[in-house]
Amino acid sequence: ASLYKIDGWGAPYFSVNSSGNIIVRPYGNDTLAHQEIDLLKIVKKVSDPKSSGGLGLQLPLIVRLPDVLKNRLESLQSAFELAIQSQGYDAHYQGVYPVKCNQDRFIVEDIVKFGSPFRFGLEAGSKPELLLAMSCLCKGSPEALLVCNGFKDAEYISLALVARKLALNTVVVLEQEEELDLVIDLSKKLSVRPVIGVRAKLRTKHSGHFGSTSGEKGKFGLTTTQILRVVKKLGQAGMLDCLQLLHFHIGSQIPSTALLADGVGEAAQIYCELVRLGACMRVIDIGGGLGIDYDGSKSSESDISVGYGLEDYASAVVRAIQFVCDRKSVKHPVICSESGRAIVSHHSVLIFEAVSAGVADTSVVTSLGLQSLGEGLTEDARADYGNLCSAALNGEYEKCLLYADQLKQRCVDQFKEGSLGIEQLAAVDGFCDFVSKAIGVSDPVRTYNVNLSIFTSIPDFWGIGQLFPIVPIHRLDQQPGVRGILSDLTCDSDGKIDKFIGGELSLPLHEMEGEGGFTGGGGRYYLGMFLGGAYEEALGGLHNLFGGPSVVRVLQSDGPHSFAVTRAVPGPSCGDVLRVMQHEPELMIETLKHRAEEYGHDDGMANAAIASGLARSFHNMPYLAASSCCLTANSNS
Ligand code: PLP
Repeated sequence: ASLYKIDGWGAPYFSVNSSGNIIVRPYGNDTLAHQEIDLLKIVKKVSDPKSSGGLGLQLPLIVRLPDVLKNRLESLQSAFELAIQSQGYDAHYQGVYPVKCNQDRFIVEDIVKFGSPFRFGLEAGSKPELLLAMSCLCKGSPEALLVCNGFKDAEYISLALVARKLALNTVVVLEQEEELDLVIDLSKKLSVRPVIGVRAKLRTKHSGHFGSTSGEKGKFGLTTTQILRVVKKLGQAGMLDCLQLLHFHIGSQIPSTALLADGVGEAAQIYCELVRLGACMRVIDIGGGLGIDYDGSKSSESDISVGYGLEDYASAVVRAIQFVCDRKSVKHPVICSESGRAIVSHHSVLIFEAVSAGVADTSVVTSLGLQSLGEGLTEDARADYGNLCSAALNGEYEKCLLYADQLKQRCVDQFKEGSLGIEQLAAVDGFCDFVSKAIGVSDPVRTYNVNLSIFTSIPDFWGIGQLFPIVPIHRLDQQPGVRGILSDLTCDSDGKIDKFIGGELSLPLHEMEGEGGFTGGGGRYYLGMFLGGAYEEALGGLHNLFGGPSVVRVLQSDGPHSFAVTRAVPGPSCGDVLRVMQHEPELMIETLKHRAEEYGHDDGMANAAIASGLARSFHNMPYLAASSCCLTANSNS
């Protein structure tokens, strides 16, 4: 566990049991609700069709843990309640979940349900997000906020106003000054008294990767001049009482509480000024930014770590607002935050399988025989070969590398001009690899091929180089014998993970037992990507038409397994992903069936088998499957 720093990034939810498997404690250190869920048991149960109640789901797999989600929400709420109580703050905390972090229906529904006792709400940034937030919040607390952010047109604003008519506690936050005219106009037309917020463009700037939205030149929000114009215009329209919320967001992954307090303090000053100018201010919405410690280093210097916990965060926010408001004798506002990453990251684990590990292939040397290796080589190449042999015998590393490089290059030149056969070329390559390995200079890092698309499932690694903890979910009682990088299924050289938390360029991995799950009968090797519950699913693409993973929802239970699978959804099929690109699977199957009749043998049975095999391929997921699912398999399987 220490090799993978699990205690750092995983606490209090993830650790390793005595069998060497990763376990989840959904309620962290809360000993009253202590249950341990073994991730390997979940994988076995849902992927093995032969296990009792097995579902035969294909990997990759997202395991969602709603109990962890509940614990995150409750921990955030308690952190604010503690800070409010201990500092004598005179209003409450009431958060919202920004649905952009993961719009999955069941996640949003869970958040609304778990957060209902403490009026937790939702934030939307587009029309479809608003539609889903409206419908989900119908089952939430009537006081829960529905914060409408993002660029808005008349339709978006009308929807938000209709939401108010439906008694949802909706706030239209002005992202651009131009939105105000639409709000004034449409609210009159629809006879709705709107609640309006303004998003302030703060001067406080966070310098990490995620801070580019902040500062004077940031993409979003209103400048002080624009805020003043909004106040004036609302006053002229007799609607200044509608302005009730001040919002800002200085960026995700705020590295330190010092920077946080700086930003919150600046916003609190604007809040107090809006009170002075006559607005009926009630809520300060501090946006997102509550960070996650992806590498467990607790460092404020890195983009993937933060130097604070939930309690420190809440305490810094409450103190900064209280300090400013007390000095200006302004009533303490309700505090709202839009934490996304901090709420959903932990609750979902992506599990995928390594299917093979590349090793240097020296077999061809032995098949050709060492004596005949030199045949057909030019004199220079033969000299290199001889020098390489004697350097190897004398253990002269540098010379070995030099002669091996020279020999290989000369052979490639000979091959290109047609004077060397392919067997000879392969034998020379194999021999050089063999020598490198023997003298310990071969590249010790192996490439593990994984049944996954990085573009679909870990897009932030590809897009912005973000690192996530990746760890085998079993065999952690054995010392990993090799190091490896991970290469995915896509035909794209970017489809690999060659950077890992802690700045490592490879990951300690176990030897695959025999060949992996698809080509041989050996043991399976499962890896988990942790803390990826926020953003990754929403951002993932369809490169090479690899769709999303299968998803299971797993609750802790008192039964023999300590868990219950309450939902299991296979990932999109080949037909599903083709449909996204406007192909029509039904027509495609028909076309191919006709082709089979036209060109197949006159054997109706064989044609029928081809047709049903094709239909099955459209129905199956795009990822590598165990051989029983293949086109060539018996049609009864
Ligand atoms: N609110 C707004 C306006 C955002 O732009 C974002 C994300 O960038 C969030 C909330 C969520 O931030 P985080 O995931 O850091 O909590």
